[in-house]
Amino acid sequence: MTEEQDKPKLVPTKIYKCKDAECKAWVREELAAAEPVCPICKGPMHRSIRHLPALQNKIKKQKPVKKDLF
Ligand SMILES: [Zn+2]
Repeated sequence: MTEEQDKPKLVPTKIYKCKDAECKAWVREELAAAEPVCPICKGPMHRSIRHLPALQNKIKKQKPVKKDLF
């Protein structure tokens, strides 16, 4: 078995996660507000690091499609 295949590369990503150990809520730092509150329990969140698949840029560069079709 080759488990390496098609595995998204995990990169250490800054996140905020809920301070409540029993609450699993977390959010990427780049998507969080300046002072994020937990979306589930409304409690405070703190910075952490999580290994996540690399985010792909949502905004694709729009390349003009130049196909010379004859
Ligand atoms: Zn929470």
